[in-house]
Order: sequence, then C-alpha cells, then structure tokens
Amino acid sequence: MSEDSLLGHALVRLDEAATHLNIDPDVIEKLKYARETTQVRLMIRMDDGSRKSFLAWRCRYDDTRGPTKGGIRFHPEATVDEVETLAFWMTFKCAVMNLPYGGGKGAVQVDPRKLSKAELERLSRAYIQAFARIIGPDRDIPAPDVYTNSMIMGWMADEYAQIVGQAEPAVITGKPIALGGSLGRGDATARGGYYLVRHLAEDLGLGKTLRVAIQGFGNAGQHVARLLAADGHKIVAVSDSEGAVRSEAGLHVDMLLDAKNGGHSVITTAGQGGHEILPAGDLVGVDCDLLVPAALENMVDAKNAASVKAKLVLELANGPVTAEADEILAKKGVVILPDILANAGGVTVSYFEWVQNRQGYYWTEEEIHDRLRKIMEREGRAIWNVSITKGVTVRTAAYVHALGRLAEAIEAHGTQSFFTS
Ligand code: GLU
Repeated sequence: MSEDSLLGHALVRLDEAATHLNIDPDVIEKLKYARETTQVRLMIRMDDGSRKSFLAWRCRYDDTRGPTKGGIRFHPEATVDEVETLAFWMTFKCAVMNLPYGGGKGAVQVDPRKLSKAELERLSRAYIQAFARIIGPDRDIPAPDVYTNSMIMGWMADEYAQIVGQAEPAVITGKPIALGGSLGRGDATARGGYYLVRHLAEDLGLGKTLRVAIQGFGNAGQHVARLLAADGHKIVAVSDSEGAVRSEAGLHVDMLLDAKNGGHSVITTAGQGGHEILPAGDLVGVDCDLLVPAALENMVDAKNAASVKAKLVLELANGPVTAEADEILAKKGVVILPDILANAGGVTVSYFEWVQNRQGYYWTEEEIHDRLRKIMEREGRAIWNVSITKGVTVRTAAYVHALGRLAEAIEAHGTQSFFTS
C-alpha cells in the first residue's frame, strides 16, 4: 500500500497503538488490509431521459467482532482509498464502543446536490440492487454518512425488502421512524460527543462557558451547536462548504438552523444579529476553547495546525486531523477527543436501532439517550484512564483500547483462519 494513501496514513495510528500492547504481529497484519471491497458502476435514468453512470463501492474491512457496520457516503470526490480508510476507522470505532460489529463503509462518487429527488431515489435503489448480496442484517449493515440521510435509508430499506421478498428492517440503520428507525438516531453523533465533553469536563479543566468553533454545519455540526448552546456555551464561529461566520458575542444558533433548513448556507446570516463573514480557511485558527471539526477528512493538517487556538478538539468528523497535525497539536498541549470515540454516538444508536428491529420492541427517546450516555461515559472514562496511565494521547489510548478487543477476538477465532471463514 502506498505510504501516501489515506489508508497508509491511518495505519500509522495502528502501528503506534501496537507498540503499547503485547500482541501477535499476525493480528496487526490482518488489520492492515480490507477484507473485501467491491466496486460497481451504477447506471440510472436521468429525468431528461439520458443515462448517467456513477462509481460506487462497499468495503467490509474486518468482521472479526461481528457483521460489518458503517455508513454510505454520497460525495463527488469519494475514492476507493477513502472508503477503505473510513471502513478501517469503523472497525476501530465499533471496538472502542464494544459494539458486536466489525467495520464497513460504502460510497457513491456523485454530487447529490446536482440530482433531482427522483434521480436520487433511483441512484439509492440502484446501490442496493448492486450490493444486496453483500449486505444483510447478519453480514453488513449500512447507515447514513456525509450527504445521505434517513430518507435515503428509507428508500434503500424498501428496495432491499423488495429484493428479498420481506421486510428486513435490521439490514440498514438511520431509517425514518415510520420504517423502524430509532428515536434519538438523528442527533446521536453530536449527542455522543456532547456527553463525552460533559463527562470529561473536569478532567480536562474546562471552564463553565466554552467558546466553540464548529467546522461543517451538516447533521453533526448543527446538533452539536444546538446542544452546546442550550447548556449556555457560546458558538463563536461556524462554517459550511460555502464559507464561515463568526460573532464574538455568540452566533444566534436558531438563525443558523433556519438558514440551513431553508436550504441556504450559514453565510446568508451575515449582517444580521452581529454575524460577520469569516474566510472559511480561518475557522480552524479562530480564538476559541473548543474546536469541533464536523466536516471531512484532513481539515487540520501540517499547514494550519500551528494556528489552532483551542485547548480541546472534538472530532465529530472522521479523520479531520492528519497524523502530522496530531504531533503539532500534542506539542502545543491541545487535547484531541478522537473520531473513533468522539463521533461514535451515531453508530451506537444505529446499534440500538438494529437491536430494536430484531426484538420488535421499541425504546423511548429517554431510554436511548440514557443508554448512549452510559456507554459514552464508560468507554470515554476507560480511554481517559489509559491515556493517563500510559502517558499517551487520547487518540493513542482509544486505539490501544480498541486494539486490545480486536486482538482478543482475532486470537479467539484462531489465527490459522485468517480470511478463510
Ligand atoms: N456514518 C456514521 C459513522 O461514520 C454512522 C455509521 C453507522 O451508524 O453505522 O460513524
């Protein structure tokens, strides 16, 4: 694998974690490669009668701890390398939370904002037609990710049900409530991160009122802004793909949410309520206590890491901080709550959805919140303790914590059985 690939960079964290554990090198070798990645070309009919084709993938990275689990991303720059890296992170994320899952991920190389709703539905159905034999409630369970949502999961669940001839809600999570979705799945990614920060606030030496900058204002960014603002924290800057806004006095979160709900960028609020335009590239270096990257990979890198003023980074996106940036931030004393822990609330409530689908009995929103909070606090605390006792970053501690569980499962399967089951 090329050193320069995204997966190559991600594996640096695995090697680092391995130095803190005494495990069979075969285990590390197994975790360095995706078990199975399938590429297809999806062809759909456009509204004007023409045909268009899109590259699509599904990767089942490792299924030692259970069926593979992970979202499907619709993005114009999606690549096979990115899908495999995201699936690698899912493997570790599920192990961090002790969910009975391995890691997977899917993507379609498409800009969904350029498709009509009907075209988007045909594309979503085409994805399931192509991958119906790969996914399954005990095999591989997709969910939403960047630019996919519950509506798309609903179409996909429906297509799968038509193919197998019966309702099979547990094949996909993040569905609309009407199709067996779980209460509390909508804001679960942000809520998990919020519970984590709240639980570790004292250990992290955080003040009562945090000044927060959020990069990316999609599902995770919007909900974390709402949750933190409701607790009295000040959201001082946010950005989306069009640009950024800031306000020293605190942005009006309702105004930002209204803009997004109306299909507009956060920058359309500039000029109202003290919101000022900020060059999007400046967001990472905004003066704040807490920086929340909630967009895509590699947003904090060797070039802008030195400009970070926050004392704490909560990674709601997957892979937002590069390995080089990690080192720069560690030297500055910035604590990072890493993606495989910080954003694991989403997949955790996906797990609750799958459990509810299989048992046919549904929990209240309060029960979901409570179960999520307990798991975030339990695993967050365990990882924090590893970080203190081993004197390593929270990221390394999270990898060590997950790797221990993965190694135990791989060894229990028998190391002679690699890739053959
Ligand atoms: N796409 C989310 C993630 O990266 C959720 C995955 C899931 O719910 O399976 O964690």
